Amino acid sequence: MSAQFSVAVFNGDGIGPEIMAPTIRLLEKLQRQSNDYSLEFSDVCAGAQLYADTGSAFPDESKLAAKQADAILLSAMGLPSVRYADGTEISPQLDLRIELDLFAGVRPVRIQSDEQTPLKFKQAVDFVLIRESTEGLFHSRGIGNVTADEATETLKITRKTSEKLFKFAFELAGTRMKNQQGPGRVTCVDKANVFRSFAFFRELFDKEAQGHSGIHSDHAYVDATALWMVEKPWVFDVLVTENMFGDILSDLGAGLMGGLGLAPSADIGEQHAVFQPCHGSAPDIAGQNKANPFAMILSAAMMLEWLGQRNNIASMVIDGKRLSDAVYACLSDNNKITADIGGVATTLGASSAVDAALFDDHYE
Ligand code: ATP
Repeated sequence: MSAQFSVAVFNGDGIGPEIMAPTIRLLEKLQRQSNDYSLEFSDVCAGAQLYADTGSAFPDESKLAAKQADAILLSAMGLPSVRYADGTEISPQLDLRIELDLFAGVRPVRIQSDEQTPLKFKQAVDFVLIRESTEGLFHSRGIGNVTADEATETLKITRKTSEKLFKFAFELAGTRMKNQQGPGRVTCVDKANVFRSFAFFRELFDKEAQGHSGIHSDHAYVDATALWMVEKPWVFDVLVTENMFGDILSDLGAGLMGGLGLAPSADIGEQHAVFQPCHGSAPDIAGQNKANPFAMILSAAMMLEWLGQRNNIASMVIDGKRLSDAVYACLSDNNKITADIGGVATTLGASSAVDAALFDDHYE
C-alpha cells in the first residue's frame, strides 16, 4: 500500500512562487510514477506581502497547518521594503524554527566539477554543514539591548539543544559513511579558545563523541574553518556549529558551490522539518522568469530523502537522489542553467531541463 504524506507549501515572497511552482510539478510527476508513496500539497500563507496586505505575517492557522503536515516546503520570505515597526524584516521562516524546534540546519555543500565552482577545485567536494538553528547568537533576535551609547546581544548555548544537535551530527556522519558519501567524521566548529560558551559547547560535543566509537571526531576554530573551506574543502565530512557561525559559513559554502541559487537546506527537528533554499526572496529579479530554481529543487530532493529515511521507504530516498542528480546533470550546459550561474536559461527553461534529465531516457 502506498504511504501518503501531507506537505505544507509556503510560496512566500519575491521569486518564491516562481521557483516553487516548477518544483511542485517535478514532485507531482515523481509521485505519480511511484507505487510506494504519494504527496498531498496544500498552500499555506505567510510572509512580507501577507503582512503588508493584512497586518499579520504568520497567522495562527498557517502555524497549525505547518505543525500538522508531514513535511514543509518553503521557498523564500521577506521583502526589504516591508518591515515591522522596529525596523526588522519579516521572517516567518525564523519563527518556524523556534515554533517547531528545528535545531539542526542542514546545509550540504556538493561540488562535482571544477566548472561549477569559482575556485576551480580539481577534486570533488561533498560535506554537510550543520548549523544549530534555534539559539546561539540568534537567541538575542528582537531582545538585544540598545542604549544611546552601546548595544548588547547575548549568545546562548544550552545543554538540551546541543546534545540533540551533536547526536544528529554523529548519526548523519554514520548514514553518510554507510552510503559511502563520507569517511565518518564530525568536526565541531567553535571559538573555544576565546569564549566560555564555546568551551561548554565543545565539552558537550566531546561527551557525545564518546558514544560513537566508529566515527572520528575533531575540532576546528571557526576562523580556520573559513580558511580551509576555501583552501581544501574536500577534507570535511560533517561540520557542526553554532547558529551565527553556521549562518555565515553556509553562505561561504554556497559561494564555493557557485552561488546561492545552488544551495539547498533543511531545518530539521525531532518531529518536523522545513526544506528551503538558502537564498532570500531576491526581489530585484522577481517576476522576470530569471530566478534559479535549482536550490529549491535540491531542497525538495532533501525532503524526499528525509521522508523516505524516516518512514523506511527506500524508493523515496532513491527518488530524492534521482532528483538531485538530475539537477547536477544540467550544470555543465549553459542552455540549462540560469544567468546567476553563468547560463542563459529562464526559470522555466532550467526546470524543464531538470524534468527532461529526470524523465526522458534519451535526454542529452
Ligand atoms: P535574505 O536576507 O532573506 O537571506 P538576502 O538579502 O541575503 O536575503 P537574496 O534575496 O538571497 O538576499 O539575494 C541576494 C542576491 O542573490 C540578489 O542579487 C538576488 O537577485 C540573488 N539571488 C538570490 N537567489 C537567487 C536565485 N534563486 N536565482 C538568481 N539569483 C538569486
